[in-house]
Amino acid sequence: MGEVQRLSGEGCAFFQRGRCTGTKGIKSPADAKCTLLDARRKVGARTLDRLERIKRLANAKDREVARRHVIQKNLEAISGITCPNFVPSSGAGSICWHQHLVYCLLKLPECQGRCIKYIRSAALSHSAQRSV
Ligand code: SF4
Ligand code: SF4
Repeated sequence: MGEVQRLSGEGCAFFQRGRCTGTKGIKSPADAKCTLLDARRKVGARTLDRLERIKRLANAKDREVARRHVIQKNLEAISGITCPNFVPSSGAGSICWHQHLVYCLLKLPECQGRCIKYIRSAALSHSAQRSV
């Protein structure tokens, strides 16, 4: 008797380059986040916080000097963040080819073929439109 084969998961709304982005199946979605993006966000949040505190300085010149210093430190910190698996999505861009929303496709499970959670792309966009 012939072996039963699963249908491909391609066409599923969760299917992205061979990976399943349906994060309900992931034990800890936080672990699947792009570490580069996460680190950049944290640096950005700290920078915004510092810029906010600078506003309290009474002297305008001091404020400007401090602002430039904070921006410079932010650029240094951002450019110091790396990921060994980073692949630029285009040219020398700063977006990684493996990034999908806030997730890293490399950390998401491979789609093993059409499963019970399969949902056609069009069906998902229709239900999303209905819920707006
Ligand atoms: S490989 Fe790319 S998407 Fe994955 S963690 Fe590294 S930078 Fe983020
Ligand atoms: S078919 Fe199943 S495993 Fe494959 S992408 Fe869709 S939900 Fe994920």
